[in-house]
Amino acid sequence: MAIERTLSIIKPDGVERNLIGSILKRFEDAGLKVAAARLSHLSQQEAEGFYAVHSERPFFGELVEFMTRSPVFISVLEGENAILRNREIMGATNPAEAAEGTIRKDFAKSIGENTVHGSDGPDTARDEIAYFFPSSQVYGG
Ligand code: ADP
Ligand code: MG
Repeated sequence: MAIERTLSIIKPDGVERNLIGSILKRFEDAGLKVAAARLSHLSQQEAEGFYAVHSERPFFGELVEFMTRSPVFISVLEGENAILRNREIMGATNPAEAAEGTIRKDFAKSIGENTVHGSDGPDTARDEIAYFFPSSQVYGG
């Protein structure tokens, strides 16, 4: 199986509620390693650029406002099938549809404030990691 890297963000609602440790524990318990990490209070420009693929969606303004409300915890997770594994641990976008035991089922308040972001495929993972971390600051194997 392939060792992959993926980008994870603990969104403002997660950081505000002191959930960084609880969420990282789920990743680590699943065998994913933290290969880079930092807190960052995103600017409007950074959030708009990160979510540019959604710029035509009706919720875009609300999403950017939410993501810039307070600091986020951005990390690179590394491990076997890290991209899909992270998405499984996160659960469905809408917490009402998320499986039992997932982060979004247990912690998310709404489809907008859904506590975590995770890259959805190899191309987005590569681009999203590069958006936030120079390769010299990613310490995986
Ligand atoms: P995911 O984060 O699961 O990959 P998407 O890429 O579809 O989901 O959407 C990006 C983010 O936009 C979601 O995580 C959520 O914060 C927000 N979002 C998605 N759909 C809606 C919606 N219908 N209303 C409000 N916010 C939404
Ligand atoms: Mg997405």
